Amino acid sequence: MDFTIQSALVPVEHGYETVDVQIVAGRIAAIAPGLQGVGTIVDGRDKLLLPGFVNAHTHSSEMWQRGIIPPTPLELWIAELYEFEPLDPEQLYLSALGTAVEVLLSGGTSVVDHLVMIEGRELESIAAAVRAYRDVGMRAFVAPLIQDESMTAGMPSGGTAQTHAPYIRSTAETLAIIEDAIAQFHRPADGISILPAPTGIQLCSDALFEGCVRLSDRYSLPLHTHLLETRAQQLLAHEKYGYSAVEHLKRLGFLSPRTSLAHCVWLDDADIAILAETQSTVVHNPLSNLRLGSGIAPILKYLQAGVNVTFGCDGAASNDAQDLLEAIKIGSMLHNVTDVDYRHWMTPRKAAELASLGGATGLGMAAELGSLTVGKQADLVLYDLKNLSLLPRTDPIGLLIWGRPTQAVDSVWVKGDRVVTDGTVTTTNVDDLRQQLFDRSQWITNRQSASIRQVEARYRAVMNLPAQTPGYS
Ligand SMILES: [Zn+2]
Repeated sequence: MDFTIQSALVPVEHGYETVDVQIVAGRIAAIAPGLQGVGTIVDGRDKLLLPGFVNAHTHSSEMWQRGIIPPTPLELWIAELYEFEPLDPEQLYLSALGTAVEVLLSGGTSVVDHLVMIEGRELESIAAAVRAYRDVGMRAFVAPLIQDESMTAGMPSGGTAQTHAPYIRSTAETLAIIEDAIAQFHRPADGISILPAPTGIQLCSDALFEGCVRLSDRYSLPLHTHLLETRAQQLLAHEKYGYSAVEHLKRLGFLSPRTSLAHCVWLDDADIAILAETQSTVVHNPLSNLRLGSGIAPILKYLQAGVNVTFGCDGAASNDAQDLLEAIKIGSMLHNVTDVDYRHWMTPRKAAELASLGGATGLGMAAELGSLTVGKQADLVLYDLKNLSLLPRTDPIGLLIWGRPTQAVDSVWVKGDRVVTDGTVTTTNVDDLRQQLFDRSQWITNRQSASIRQVEARYRAVMNLPAQTPGYS
């Protein structure tokens, strides 16, 4: 279906203009004042039209555990997460659907879902998430989360002798699952892409990274991974390689203009130079980094070095939401405390550009997505500037990025299909989704994780923390 959005406010170089935007055959066909109305006419008066943002890193199934994991660092948090992961593909479907709805209603049109798969039911798991994104009509980059080393290998040894059980399946078998997933589900023209996405250096062999690079080359796919999220991972990288993880990924051929790297908290200046040289993209997940105490990623340094940056929510168990506007707000303000020179600080316009074009760039899609440009695909969001949270009137993008806009999304188009109208997702029954999420869960009042206790002693020793803490239980 075609559309003409009439009299919408759009950003231009030094301010805003009121224009009409024609959407024809899934693409932006024209942007100008007073265009002829084609297709369905949409009233854009007192509304702001922006390219859709990218939630460039999340794990949809974590939605089942938001609000429950205690305040612990990643290495302990993840032990509890995996102890209680959902085991039913239908749950994976519902959490992917829930993620999509929350992202669409907070300005996103694309999601990178670093998807946790159910052991032994990997392709079913991918199928469930793909079905959800197709049903709701969100552009999805489904990145099955793969590793080939056991969880215990993910923590530094601190100089002690450690042995790790072999992983549940071989590297070749894991890569074969990804190749099967590409054959079955990779349909970029329909808005579904499959990404080779090793978990990170903490749980993956060189062979797995190299296998993912081969798949990326063979099928022209973006690459995705976690990189140096925590101080412990930085220590582990030096134990494992004797030098920086970033240098190692470069040697493996993993870093490229279509590689996006979640977190990048513990990089030094030499690492930053490598990201700039390889044109890799940093995905900043500020709420997760705060929630897990991982640190503050040096985002202003990345920007000054010319490294592409974009934003992600990260999974809902380390955030504990999927509100993309919230992640962009915190992710743009947080860094002011790291640099006294305010001329380096991020403006709302810059943040909006990183969230849209920056996200598209990291996925190798900058020619197709990420800006209001005639010929690009129509992934667009129309915000209601008469929403109470955006009033009184000042700078629309300043209100949107720095304010706390609630229910400000009026309409969303993905590939030219309208999936949100009048603030409501129209492609799926959200009341039914809420009921199913409610019915398949319960209030949890006293969950005890055995896994956290198992890894805690080693973590505290490696990180030079006292074994006992008075008053802590
Ligand atoms: Zn993550």
